[in-house]
Amino acid sequence: MKKERSNQGGSQNLLKRLNRAKILGLLRSHGSLSRTELASLSGLDNKTITNIVNHFTETHVVVSAGQMKSSSGRRKEHLKINTDYSYAVGIDIGASHITVTLLNLEGRPAAEKHHSYRFGLSGKIILEKLLSLTRALLDEAKLGPGRILGIGFTAPGFFDKERGIWKTAVNITGWESLPIRDLLSRHFGADVYLQDCSRSMALAEMWYGEGKNLDDFILLDLGQGIGLGIVIGGSLYEGAGLKSGEIGHLVVDPDGRMCTCGNRGCLESIASGTAIASLVQEEIGKGTRSKVVDLVNNHIDEITAADVVEAANLRDPLAVDVLGEAGRMIGKALSYAITLFNPESVIIGGQLSKAGPALLDPLLDSARRFTLPQLFGDLSIKLSGLGFLSASIGAATIVINDKIFGS
Ligand SMILES: [Zn+2]
Repeated sequence: MKKERSNQGGSQNLLKRLNRAKILGLLRSHGSLSRTELASLSGLDNKTITNIVNHFTETHVVVSAGQMKSSSGRRKEHLKINTDYSYAVGIDIGASHITVTLLNLEGRPAAEKHHSYRFGLSGKIILEKLLSLTRALLDEAKLGPGRILGIGFTAPGFFDKERGIWKTAVNITGWESLPIRDLLSRHFGADVYLQDCSRSMALAEMWYGEGKNLDDFILLDLGQGIGLGIVIGGSLYEGAGLKSGEIGHLVVDPDGRMCTCGNRGCLESIASGTAIASLVQEEIGKGTRSKVVDLVNNHIDEITAADVVEAANLRDPLAVDVLGEAGRMIGKALSYAITLFNPESVIIGGQLSKAGPALLDPLLDSARRFTLPQLFGDLSIKLSGLGFLSASIGAATIVINDKIFGS
């Protein structure tokens, strides 16, 4: 449960952000409220409410909704969010997709564009596509630079926040030391913020999803790669070098397959979307019969994890075996994370969170088996409800967090 923070504890800055977020959250869920109602619903004193409301009206985030009768029968000025005054942009790049989302001041996706491409597409083309997709989204929404609060950018891999450089993007060729912040800033005339994709997904859960009322949770991102977003004490844990949550590179089978990182037997080499597809391709190559072959019209090299999931739903033995082993290994690695961090909740997101019982049942069974009952008993495990927009929403919330709650 979310613990009440006192003025004495924690940083004043964090408290200010949380209080501003609380007020905007109340306006978001109620539509419009008077200052008195905001004070009683938030538990904040009148002076704090006045400060927050003044800040929000000066920055045009909140406007008057007119005089309305309150519960006491007296007419009072109500306030509402100036929903479409400006927008945060979230860009999410993966090994096989680009998603760009516009988040309005209520934190709701106002528009989005999604583009899928084959695995292995050159980084240069991906970059051109992301610029044109973002431009098209802004043009269609008729937004000039003044209406954009900023851009949040997220991808898998490692980045340098200070210099605004994406150092390596896993599974995207040619993205070494890419000066992505300056590049996007020049193109769109906006401030740019960088974050890893699993951690962006955790941010989206924290503000708008299953993590809304939680202080300590883990977001397990099951996609083309596997990562964790770790939230401790209501804050995202990034790690000293912005490299926290690399659960996909825990070695679960020392004699196993080669991983993209150069090590052998990493979780990702067995259980990522990419690995699931390639394991099935290899088995079919060895002569194993599978319904996947029919699903892809014999185009074996085009098999994706989604095809394997579809075949598992048709009770195809090969697909069930591969997803089962992936699930067991993910569950084992997840048990290490649960044991180390003692979260209240694990939220499972990413494409493979929709894989159904063929992956999720063995995952939960092995997580339970390898975790102390004292830890597992108190834990809730949920599926993310944010869908494929999750990482781009999370990236856009970084902008809102800085520009609306923090400045
Ligand atoms: Zn690895």
